[in-house]
Formats: sequence, C-alpha cells, structure tokens
Amino acid sequence: YLSIDRLSARYGSLDVLSDISLSVEKGEVVALIGPSGSGKSTLLRAFVGLLKPYGGTVRLAGNTLDYADAASLRRARDRFAIVFQQYNLFQNMTVLRNVCIAPTLVKKRDKKDVEATALALLEKIGLGHKLHAYPDELSGGQQQRVALARALALKPDVLLLDEVTSALDPELVNEVLDAIRTLAADGMTMVIVSHEMGFVREVSSRVVFMDRGRVVEEGPPSMLDAPRTERLRDFTAKII
Ligand code: ATP
Ligand code: MG
Repeated sequence: YLSIDRLSARYGSLDVLSDISLSVEKGEVVALIGPSGSGKSTLLRAFVGLLKPYGGTVRLAGNTLDYADAASLRRARDRFAIVFQQYNLFQNMTVLRNVCIAPTLVKKRDKKDVEATALALLEKIGLGHKLHAYPDELSGGQQQRVALARALALKPDVLLLDEVTSALDPELVNEVLDAIRTLAADGMTMVIVSHEMGFVREVSSRVVFMDRGRVVEEGPPSMLDAPRTERLRDFTAKII
C-alpha cells in the first residue's frame, strides 16, 4: 500500500536518511522507534515533502510520488496527514472550526459534509461535548485529540503521528493513546513514532528500529524481547 524503496535524504551535507526501505499494508500500524537523532521525524517529513529526498521512491496506492513536481507533491501531501508533538491548534477558533477549516477552505469540500464528518470524529474521540470550546479551555490531552480529529478530517490514506503524547502530562497520555487505539481498530493505516514501548507493543503490527538514518531491525513487536542486533539490545535496555 505504502512502499518506500531506498529513500535517502540530507540536511546540507548531513546524511539523515540512508537507503530506507519499508512497506506498510493498508490498515497496518507501523511503529518507528530509535534513539534521538536517528531520523524518525525526518522520515515522516520526507513522506509529506517537507524535506525532499534526493534518492529512492515513495509509492502510495500504486502511485509513485514525484517530489520534484509541485502538482505531484501536492497530491502526496493530500494523501498523508501528520500530527506533531506540538498540536498547534488555531487559538481563535472553536474545536469544531479547527477541525473543519482545512477541508472546507483548502480542499473546498462541501461545508455540510465536512461538518458531519467532523462531528462524527469528535464524537468518536470523546469530544462531542466540546465542539464550541476554544483550545485554551481544553486540557493538553483534549487539544491533542482535537489535533488528531483535524488530521483525520482531511481523510488521509495514511496518518503519521510523531510523538503525539510526549508533550503531555503523564495522566493525559492515556486518553490520547485510547483515541489512537480506536483509530487502529477502525483500520486506519498509521505510521507512528513513539517512545511509549508498552503502547507500541500493543497497537503496532510491526516495529521498525532506526539508528543513524538507517533501518537496523524490523519485525513484529515481539522482536523487542529478543533483539538480533547489539544496537537494538542497547536501545531496549535503556528505554524499557
Ligand atoms: P528524536 O527522537 O529526538 O525526535 P529523530 O529520530 O526524530 O529524533 P530527526 O529529527 O529525524 O531525529 O533528526 C535526524 C537528524 O537530522 C539529526 O542528526 C538531526 O540533528 C538532523 N536534523 C533534523 N532537523 C534538521 C534541520 N532542520 N536541519 C539540519 N539538520 C536537521
Ligand atoms: Mg523526532
């Protein structure tokens, strides 16, 4: 479904992604793990064209994304939605408006349809009672759930989540993880970067361990219990 073949990218002269190959089936949840600076965020950024790879290909649903071509890049962006650690909601807009704004203004979708989708999404993630609240009236966990709904309202083929719980107070982490569990159960295809190893084991069908811009080891979550490589062994010993 999503297939990455030998993707490589640099920041200036620094190689940050080297020959990354990876495939993600429809409905699958793939977790990217690895030490700080290993290239996890960069890989997600490369998918959406925030960083242009200099080599390799990304194919999604049979289409090869051409990062050199502006129209193709826009189509690529349309297929992915990304949520970051910092949720960056529009402070001057209600929850409902935050979720509806991009699909109506940017994608020019029908306002009524967008709103119906938004209501269903917000209901699903437990925010049906906060439609008209402003971000500063919400907890961090609620704001991050709004950010998830906002990404989903774009109807992406693949949802990319970059450490969406790491800015949250510990007691708020679970409500966001619950929302992600619900999405996984609904069959949303996701690539998630997470340091919550318990969650990674539970929700992901496959784990990809990156180090220094390369995929070092990849397998089912059980690989965390029996690493093949020294590097993954070191990593799991530190993090769990
Ligand atoms: P973390 O777990 O800390 O979020 P990460 O695996 O997401 O780490 P990346 O943010 O992808 O790591 O960074 C990969 C490499 O790219 C690092 O060496 C980092 O210093 C470098 N890098 C990231 N962003 C930039 C940038 N805007 N300009 C130059 N180098 C960058
Ligand atoms: Mg990162």
